Amino acid sequence: MKILPKKTKKGQREQIMSTCKSCGARIVWIQTLSGNWMPANEGLVPYRQSETGKDVVITDRGEVIHCKFQFEGLPTGLARIPHFATCPNADKHRKKGKQ
Ligand SMILES: [Zn+2]
Repeated sequence: MKILPKKTKKGQREQIMSTCKSCGARIVWIQTLSGNWMPANEGLVPYRQSETGKDVVITDRGEVIHCKFQFEGLPTGLARIPHFATCPNADKHRKKGKQ
């Protein structure tokens, strides 16, 4: 399979569409502001920025933001959930053995 960098709008980081090798889900690789590439889910979700939030999202600008998905009022914006947070096979890489 060929993966091509997606053309991005102004202010957005480079993104590469791909497929998770563990579960087969469609994912998007986003380069964070620190230069690392992170796999994220394809869909955008509303989030509320929170320094104490235990969840993390990646914006299309490459920002990694601590947030909450359950909140009252308006969301801070739309962003993507890191794929390892929702991948059903995320533990596969750590744990070996049968269930
Ligand atoms: Zn996966």
